[in-house]
Amino acid sequence: MVKETGFYDILGVKPGATPDELKKAYRKLALKYHPDKNPDSGDKFKAISQAYEVLSDEKKRKIYDQGGEQALKEGTGGGGGFHSPMDIFDMFFGGHHSSGPSKGKDMVQQLKVTLEELYNGSLRKLALQKNVICQKCDGYGGKKGSVQSCTTCHGSGMQIRIHQFAPGMVQQVQTVCHDCQGQGERINSKDRCKNCQGRKVIRERKILEVHIDKGMRDGQQIRFTGEGDQEPGVEPGDIIIVLDEKEHPVFQRRRMDLIMLMEITLTEALCGFQKTIEMLDKRILVINSYPGEVVQHNQLKSIMGEGMPQYRNPFEKGQLIIKFSVKFPTTVPVDKLPVLETILPPREKVIVPDGAEECMLEEYDINTQNVHNHRRGEVYDDDDDDDQHGARRVQCASQ
Ligand SMILES: [Zn+2]
Ligand SMILES: [Zn+2]
Repeated sequence: MVKETGFYDILGVKPGATPDELKKAYRKLALKYHPDKNPDSGDKFKAISQAYEVLSDEKKRKIYDQGGEQALKEGTGGGGGFHSPMDIFDMFFGGHHSSGPSKGKDMVQQLKVTLEELYNGSLRKLALQKNVICQKCDGYGGKKGSVQSCTTCHGSGMQIRIHQFAPGMVQQVQTVCHDCQGQGERINSKDRCKNCQGRKVIRERKILEVHIDKGMRDGQQIRFTGEGDQEPGVEPGDIIIVLDEKEHPVFQRRRMDLIMLMEITLTEALCGFQKTIEMLDKRILVINSYPGEVVQHNQLKSIMGEGMPQYRNPFEKGQLIIKFSVKFPTTVPVDKLPVLETILPPREKVIVPDGAEECMLEEYDINTQNVHNHRRGEVYDDDDDDDQHGARRVQCASQ
């Protein structure tokens, strides 16, 4: 039992979530609420990041589970000791956020893929918009020599304003320069590059070819080095494609294994069966039960080499695990029961002692309270409390 579930709720997982489940939840939410995509959800992004930071750290998670957020605060001297949401994001996706101004930002993009694609491999084309340096002006924004340092901000792109908020009390406020929009330079309108309107870059549609190799997994990253936004004087960042495995209606993946549920009837469980399975590459497998073997409800069986291919070694495959679900008939013809009994294992003899009470078996309904409906109307001692009544009725004990 955990004290609070707040951090789990933020990530949309149960308190018992595995590290993999936490990673997946963080990945999805962080990409959805990243300020690049969702500028208004900074608070949400921060909350997701903090929840993940705590729950992904075994020690912190233990403290949180036992004592909640308060215990965490006490353990870190009051502040909570969180990293910035961007640092967490960059650590998770392996970005180069803090490597200085000479490298542009990485772009992280999620790509939904089916289990079939991860099994067979596939080539996906992904269209995206990115900034590229204007070819007409080579990223100068205008004719060479026409670019002048902004006189308002002296090229810094920022302006310091003195704000008087009370008589004699002033505050320095730094704002982006209005005259050059923070560029630090200006170009006369007649010298401005017509192609990019002086912006130095133009927006271009780019098609990325994403090779999905056999055996790739959910959350795996494919990096396109230097394919991020271009900006003059800056080395472009990378585009990082993160695979997001869609749920499959039949197969569940557990690392290299595939798991499927197979429903069989009681007749099949007892008398044997033959079944076909359509695999992720459309091959049809045939399976047979062993004569005389009774397949149990929830029994697991496996087929070697029919699981997922191993990444970079696709001839190696995991197992296909089949979980059987036996569907029982709800009734059988009473007159046929003696015949059935001659085949099935004999039943256990029961000795009923004198004074045993015979009870009525009813369908259990979780919504029915045990305070009424007692058919045989026994009267209990008045000093018995209600809980004991309930317990006694359920057990139908003899006394
Ligand atoms: Zn300026
Ligand atoms: Zn241009």
